[in-house]
Amino acid sequence: MNGPDEFDPLAVVELAARLVRLRTVHDGRAGGDQGGDHGGNHGGNHGGTHGGDVERPAVELVAALMRDFGWSVSVVEVAAGRHSAIGVIDGAIEGAGPGRTLMFEGHVDVVTEGDPDSWSFEPYVGDIVPGPGAEQELILRGRGSADMKAGVAAMLHAARAVELGGFTGRIVVGVLAGEEGMMLGAKRFAADLVAGAIPGVGTVDGVIVCEPEGGEVCPVAKGALRLAVRFTGAMAHGAMPWMGRNPLPAIGSMLAAIADTERVLRATYGEHPLLGPICLTPTVLRAGELDQINVMPAHATLAIDVRTTPQVEHARLVADLADTASRIARASGLTAELTVIDDRPPVNTSPDHPVVQAMLAGHLAATGRPAVIGGVPGATDGTILTRDAGLATVVYGPGGKWIAHQADEHVAVADIITSTRAYIAAARHFLRGAPDGGEPLDTTDSGGH
Ligand SMILES: [Zn+2]
Repeated sequence: MNGPDEFDPLAVVELAARLVRLRTVHDGRAGGDQGGDHGGNHGGNHGGTHGGDVERPAVELVAALMRDFGWSVSVVEVAAGRHSAIGVIDGAIEGAGPGRTLMFEGHVDVVTEGDPDSWSFEPYVGDIVPGPGAEQELILRGRGSADMKAGVAAMLHAARAVELGGFTGRIVVGVLAGEEGMMLGAKRFAADLVAGAIPGVGTVDGVIVCEPEGGEVCPVAKGALRLAVRFTGAMAHGAMPWMGRNPLPAIGSMLAAIADTERVLRATYGEHPLLGPICLTPTVLRAGELDQINVMPAHATLAIDVRTTPQVEHARLVADLADTASRIARASGLTAELTVIDDRPPVNTSPDHPVVQAMLAGHLAATGRPAVIGGVPGATDGTILTRDAGLATVVYGPGGKWIAHQADEHVAVADIITSTRAYIAAARHFLRGAPDGGEPLDTTDSGGH
């Protein structure tokens, strides 16, 4: 039994649908865990499930299934009400050596549905209906269907199929908490892995992150920096401004300097073929009060959302912007303070890395067509696993890249099945290599560059 098809497609789709029906909304206010990402926007804040638990019901469902499969399972509470489930499967082929360790990674928290009136169906319906296109292909509908409960269902059943077929090495299946927030589950997993504290797992040789990328194999992801610049002067009456030092004009100079920096970076590095342009976008301004227009405030704050490509070194960019802010401040008798609120470096896995090669081979095996190589517009848990534990990550999964976080979220049933098949073939391809990644695998099936 080594064919690619020994899984039950109905079981995969039913699991995805059951997960969608659980309203596991990430609430930005829960556990101080704010600031979700990976490309889309968050809508309004309608709160999570009761008691601060967010992904718990879905994590419990997933953990129960893992236990039914006979895997070693740990459920970890990474913050109050925030849970990860980690399953470990050891290959059982005798005398085959230690082999590689492959990780499948996903999350079951979702962003809010926003205004339900903007949806044409109940946001957590989790049903399967003919799609809107002319072909009327079947779709699974609901918040979290594409991002990324379909991917989680696919990776779980793919790992099970590989296990049943027999393999060498180890498979880790991680459903990690809080991806839509500060990625606490990925941070905890990376820290535990580095500390040798994941039961039964020494190292991870490659990670497939099962986020919706429309069937593209994505070895690169944009980096993100969230920065705040605060200028401090001295408060004064608007009738006697010479008695104070106004921080507001400095904000104007800083806005111009940020636009200059963006221009220089774009001119220096050009547009990344898979990730597009570098962006420094001012997004928040705070100073003074509208009901106190006669008061010159002491403080003015500007926040910037920075999106980088792998050529940009974050530490250097931050140092440059801090220098610029200080220079502007000094010229007006102010002080400046730059705060890094979040730093998610870009991901730049080599296309030659065995996990990327395996995913390319997996896509080809599942579809008969070479994969398109793409890039992830924002950060994923893979960003954290790369940053904090040095893991090689590639992102691939069912569902359109741009449907995440939108109203009327859905995923094609055929894509869920195809991804399951692709994960199975990718895992087999990866796990038959040597643990040091040194064994040359055939790369003739890695078209699509
Ligand atoms: Zn996601």
